[in-house]
Amino acid sequence: MEKAKEKGTTIRDRHTESPVDTSPSVGDEVKCTTCYMCACRCGIKVHLQDGEIRYIQGNRDHPVNKGVLCAKGSAGIMNYKSPARLSKPLKRVGPRGSGEFKEVEWEEALETATAWLTTCRATSPHKLAFFTGRDQSQSLTSWWAQQFGTPNFSAHGGFCSVNMAAGGLYTIASAFWEFGEPDWEHTKYFLMFGVAEDHDSNPIKMGLGKLKTRGGKFVSVNPVRTGYSAIADEWIGIRPGTDGLFVMALIHELLKAGKIDEEYLVRYTNVHWLVVDNPGGADHGLYIRDDDGTAFCWDGDKQELARTDSVAAKPILAGQVTLPDGRRAVPSFQRVAERYLDEAYAPESVAETCGIPAPTIRRIAADLARVAFEETIELPIKWTDCFGRKHDKVVGRPVAMHAMRGISAHTNGFHTCRAIHILQLLLGTIDVPGGMRYKPPYPKALYSLPKPFGRDREVKPNTPLAGPHLGFPMAPEELLIGEDGQPKRIDKAFSWEAPLAIHGLMHMVIHNAWKGDPYQIDTLFLYMANMAWNSSMNTAQTMKMLTDKDPATGEYKIPRIIYSDAFYSEMVPFADLILPDTTYLERYDCISLLDRPISHADAAADGIRHPVVQPTRDVRPFQTVLLDLGARLGLPGMVKEDGGPLYPGGYADYIVNHQRRPGLGPLAGWRGEDGSEHGTGAPNPNQLDRYIENGGFWEYTIPDEHKYHRYANQGYLDWSFKIGFITNANQIVMKIYSEALQKFKLAGQGHGDIQPPERDRDRIAKYADPLPIWYPPMEESMVDGGEYPLHAITQRPMQMYHSWGSQNAWLRQITGENWLYINRAKAKELGIVNGDWVWVASHNARIKVQAKLMDGVNKNTVWTWNAIGKRPGAWNLDPEASEATRGFLLNYLISELLPADGDSYRYSNSDPLTGQAAWFDLRVRVERAADHEQGEMEPRFEPTMRPPDLPPAPKILRYGEAFRQDRARAKEPTE
Ligand code: SF4
Repeated sequence: MEKAKEKGTTIRDRHTESPVDTSPSVGDEVKCTTCYMCACRCGIKVHLQDGEIRYIQGNRDHPVNKGVLCAKGSAGIMNYKSPARLSKPLKRVGPRGSGEFKEVEWEEALETATAWLTTCRATSPHKLAFFTGRDQSQSLTSWWAQQFGTPNFSAHGGFCSVNMAAGGLYTIASAFWEFGEPDWEHTKYFLMFGVAEDHDSNPIKMGLGKLKTRGGKFVSVNPVRTGYSAIADEWIGIRPGTDGLFVMALIHELLKAGKIDEEYLVRYTNVHWLVVDNPGGADHGLYIRDDDGTAFCWDGDKQELARTDSVAAKPILAGQVTLPDGRRAVPSFQRVAERYLDEAYAPESVAETCGIPAPTIRRIAADLARVAFEETIELPIKWTDCFGRKHDKVVGRPVAMHAMRGISAHTNGFHTCRAIHILQLLLGTIDVPGGMRYKPPYPKALYSLPKPFGRDREVKPNTPLAGPHLGFPMAPEELLIGEDGQPKRIDKAFSWEAPLAIHGLMHMVIHNAWKGDPYQIDTLFLYMANMAWNSSMNTAQTMKMLTDKDPATGEYKIPRIIYSDAFYSEMVPFADLILPDTTYLERYDCISLLDRPISHADAAADGIRHPVVQPTRDVRPFQTVLLDLGARLGLPGMVKEDGGPLYPGGYADYIVNHQRRPGLGPLAGWRGEDGSEHGTGAPNPNQLDRYIENGGFWEYTIPDEHKYHRYANQGYLDWSFKIGFITNANQIVMKIYSEALQKFKLAGQGHGDIQPPERDRDRIAKYADPLPIWYPPMEESMVDGGEYPLHAITQRPMQMYHSWGSQNAWLRQITGENWLYINRAKAKELGIVNGDWVWVASHNARIKVQAKLMDGVNKNTVWTWNAIGKRPGAWNLDPEASEATRGFLLNYLISELLPADGDSYRYSNSDPLTGQAAWFDLRVRVERAADHEQGEMEPRFEPTMRPPDLPPAPKILRYGEAFRQDRARAKEPTE
């Protein structure tokens, strides 16, 4: 067979140069781009025949997946071919929610949006709420919102895993997934908490393969044994929401046994930094600092204060000292020891709450210590630290951990995430061989990260915000609140209700906009966020909020909704104006180091998508539309001096020519006019071609001497500073003790100029704590445990992680409906057998669904696959499709607010510090439905009207048949 010619790429498929062709080409052309069937961003090779997509294959040269492709990735063809694709801009003509639209031309659509947004920007820019879903172009979308001047922007992080991101950045100057990964080459013991494989999907798959091949151990701590947990060597079926307590018990055991890496802690963390010991005082718990801000430790040999950056000092880690000015202070490690050595964290004390026997907790702690301290790895790599000390090796403690949404999506998630990182630090496993390793551009010092913008003085008509929306507050002065202490953002991010909401609270936008709290908005602008269905809590009520009218005016409470999506999702009928997007195979994208790059521990990397096929519908890439709108609105940075569009070539033009500051653009590769510079440099008009030639990505491999201890590796820090990742090349100290959190606590206790309103005081004083605390998930502590005795959680099936898979003809065949999974023994107690229809009730609502029994689930937990259920008619599925008749959402049961407690204010159902949506705090009661109630799911929604551009829903969807026939014909003898 003649090999396909790889048009547009110089990559040679060296892997097929073998006598046995295990990877035959199936088309006449191959184009390399980046998958977007989930958040993982693997490299793909799209095989085309006569310009039609024939097959999708993993790109073996790509830094993320090295050729591995999952079911979703190969099924991308069926998303591209989906009958649910929108094909023309739409304007609502019927009542909102009905799905009654008329087709309009792009000019009319864009002029309509421009007219709405022009008025908004000229009068009250904060009345635009612009929120995006799993948007991989946030460096553009956030910048656009900033230029518009609204404080109300964020993407979906707040309802995904912001606890993990915030917990990491406030502790180890990085985070799991995009900013850090287990050292799969060397780790010997891997501990994974909760649902965690849904972001770094293929790399974890490959990593587990390496770990198991080497004989390493994989321990999964997860209430449900599915997904990657199914191949764990040990499964710990923990009770949901108790991971933090379990981790603190591990810390208790390690401290008690003295199994911690003191040298590592003193070199790289703040355990020796002195904090004021003045209970009740305004300075209690704050660092003792020099005039230049450098913290002090106490030199035990010299019995005097020493700067923490003094390598000669011999700092104490325990005890109290009296300072020359008479104040008392303790090293922050003293606080660590006091807290976690308390018997409240002893394995026996936590065992029942966590549902893990005390001997198991003790054994895991001993295993961690044994692997970390007795199975160390030494690599003969020379490096120099930031104090000028030269080292001739790096020592690795081969224990790695990973966590994402499973532990994040609780109201106690932030502290749990911090606790995991502190456990890693005590073992000395951050950025060492076998531990967790950073991915460039991380680590980044917390103090150097931006602060949020959006105070009254910063939001002015026809004026851009002077800085980004999302940032990293370190003190009450950096919150977005008014003089009355009230929130300034529509989602209340960075207010006393969620001071560290670094990704916003997308799950609260519709509720707050509907309620007019803290204010009413004018336009809700959403991009690829299915907020009328699986991306909202309290789905049925959310649909009502979207259609609710003000009785006084007869107008919708949310006056205007603009939505961009590629598909006819459940959100589409609730919008007034639809801007149809392309699929990922039909457009340019940039996976930028300014945003969420595709680096790995050994290399900085970024990538692109480019159109491998042209759209056959009247659709436009959203990013291009956004730039067009920006130009029509005259947004700074998007128009030329003569008022014309600065990027007439759309997003591709922007990717190449936009500079955030001189020399710094969306892509780091092949910069400079001739493409000879990397990292920074002038725009290169041929940059995209160079990416395409290189398989769709750019990669810079970090030299060995810069690969470890990057928080204190001078060579790495110098390079990172030079390339623009960090603002200076100083040591980045990891923060076991958080002074930032202590400042919020002090404010809650009545200290400082900026204090919370009365209502929020105790809450802030309780939850803002400089060291991780554990408390029961809030819903659990507010509802009657007898009435709602079970936990209810969800996860996506592996073949649909983060994807739009429930409408994908191939993936639907794997999971086309979902059940409520119940522990077999618990079901017996409840008189439920396999296949029974059961009522599931929460404090918010109840649903009737079908039950399945299994053993691999915590006894007090029920669970289901998420987002399989679809609204009848949506996604152009047959209204009687299994997704619409038997598939259900647990979201109906989850309230966006905490349970009512008399007349008191109802806070959002979120982590009290980060605002992370607490999807997994749900408590339910499960009962078998009466005999006459069996057989029918509840609730069921009326099918929506079909927009005019949607083709008829096909009964059978086939793809590839035509190619097969062509091939068969080609093989027929010609004589
Ligand atoms: S769907 Fe996700 S994990 Fe699968 S190939 Fe695509 S990007 Fe990778």
